[in-house]
Amino acid sequence: MSLLTAQNSDFGLQSFYRRYRPQVFGDVVGQEHVTHTLSNALKSDPPRVNHAYLFCGPRGTGKTTTARLVAKGLNCEQGPTATPCCKCDMCLRIARGSAMDVLEIDAASNTGVDKVRDVIIEKVNYAPAEGRYRVYIIDEVHQLSIHAFNALLKTLEEPPPHVVFILATTETHKVPGTILSRCQRFDFRPISPEHIIQRLKTVIKEEKLDVELTALGRIARAAEGSARDALSILEQAAAYSEGTVTEIEIEAVLGSVGHELLSEMTDALIRKDTRQAVLLLHRAVNQGKDIQQMFLDLGSHLRDLLILSLGCDSQDINVLPAEMVNKMKEQASLFNRRSLADIIDELCRAEREMRANSQHRLLAELTMFKCTQSREPVSVSEPARDEPKAVSILSAAEPSRERLLTKRIPSEPKVHVEAEVEASAPVASATPGVLPAGIDGLWTQVLAVARKQSVRLHAVLLDATPVNLSENALSLEFANQFHYDHIVENTANKDTVRQIVSGLIGKPIGIKCSLGSQTAKSTRSGVTRTASVSGGERTGGQPDAPDKDAAENGVSAADGVSAADGVSAAMSLFDAKVVSERPSGQSS
Ligand SMILES: [Zn+2]
Repeated sequence: MSLLTAQNSDFGLQSFYRRYRPQVFGDVVGQEHVTHTLSNALKSDPPRVNHAYLFCGPRGTGKTTTARLVAKGLNCEQGPTATPCCKCDMCLRIARGSAMDVLEIDAASNTGVDKVRDVIIEKVNYAPAEGRYRVYIIDEVHQLSIHAFNALLKTLEEPPPHVVFILATTETHKVPGTILSRCQRFDFRPISPEHIIQRLKTVIKEEKLDVELTALGRIARAAEGSARDALSILEQAAAYSEGTVTEIEIEAVLGSVGHELLSEMTDALIRKDTRQAVLLLHRAVNQGKDIQQMFLDLGSHLRDLLILSLGCDSQDINVLPAEMVNKMKEQASLFNRRSLADIIDELCRAEREMRANSQHRLLAELTMFKCTQSREPVSVSEPARDEPKAVSILSAAEPSRERLLTKRIPSEPKVHVEAEVEASAPVASATPGVLPAGIDGLWTQVLAVARKQSVRLHAVLLDATPVNLSENALSLEFANQFHYDHIVENTANKDTVRQIVSGLIGKPIGIKCSLGSQTAKSTRSGVTRTASVSGGERTGGQPDAPDKDAAENGVSAADGVSAADGVSAAMSLFDAKVVSERPSGQSS
């Protein structure tokens, strides 16, 4: 009897998972395709009983629970039935795990052929001691040795009529084909977050716990389809908290960082702000967070953004609060998908490396550096069909956008000339020295819209750097006199830019143009510089060439011209071509 799974008979000491194990098929959530078929088989007269079942699926999805329900249905004193009474002696003993005719074997700890022979083969021919059927539930059956499988196979080939085998496995591919072919197979799916929440709510009600809804969503996501994990997290959090269980308790149990920090980290990645990313990393470390777990969380957060940017429906995202999803949609719209995938890839690689390397902090800092320094522009326009969506999301998420737009960045480029172009109201409210962080994202969208309207205008704007966004005006700094003139001295161009920006922001806004020094410009991130080289070469060399993907050009340019010298050489090359094309230097 030592092979039987140990059962704790003391209800009070049982874990939530054991205490609230479903006792009828109707209680098993998220596996209706399995429970429905099994119920029908048990309901039919005479019951259609197969002698070997294989339950496949991830851990914690209800395989063993369902196996016990089959055993109950077959052996209930009122049965065979799909709805066991749960009151008779057999039902109660099966639920407790003490029924002599229902044997649960953990193959993980009984892999050898001798054990299989002792427990199964030798006794399989005896008639049931109490019930109608002897039910063998073999958990993690893929762990059996090949000899054990062979011994089992002989029994499966000619099973006595009163015996039912239920084999459960998380790794179906490791079960020999000869065994598979003799079983009726059922595939258990990961339980959806909605179903997990439904299950958690039942337990919370029974246990009279006070749990916030956001905390439930957090558990459901962390459980990754396993009801057992979800209940275990809930139980630990309930023990940890004094009173209401909030997301904070859940994060403490999971050792993970809060959504707020992940969101800020994502903002830093969008802005390619290495300093901020590293500061946030340090903040998490100082709070005692596990860096490896944080990378997993950040990777999963960015994965959600990727899914959102594709417009896919995701059950993981559906359980999040609406304002959180809005903020995520906004962040997703500011990323180039390819860069997002690259960053996720980088995070996964670092997380893998952390398993073999104890220098987690160093690895993490290095990764943050790589993710914010990638040569490819992080925020480059998406394909045209996505742009209107991105715009509407931006205006829908008003509060978070305001937050993004008021981040401080200390250095402001020097300005030689400052000329105001039709601000819709006085710009006195613009705070000097403040560079709104979110304007890079806005500018990406401006460039995308401009590119659709005029390749030439787009090329000119690539030279501009957005330096400030106030209530009334967007300030642009041009590195090149020619491009500056092209906007400032041409009413049509000026109006086009103003209309694009106003359209994206959702209210009339002016444009302020200034001419900055090359030095000032080179202190800014490589995004604009790289883009202006590729865009410039394209427009200058082939004015009528079809528009290409700016990101692709950015990569090839950066790959070919790695040093700053190369960049300025390319820029002067561009200027020379344009000047020769338009000797007057004036706008068209
Ligand atoms: Zn019963």
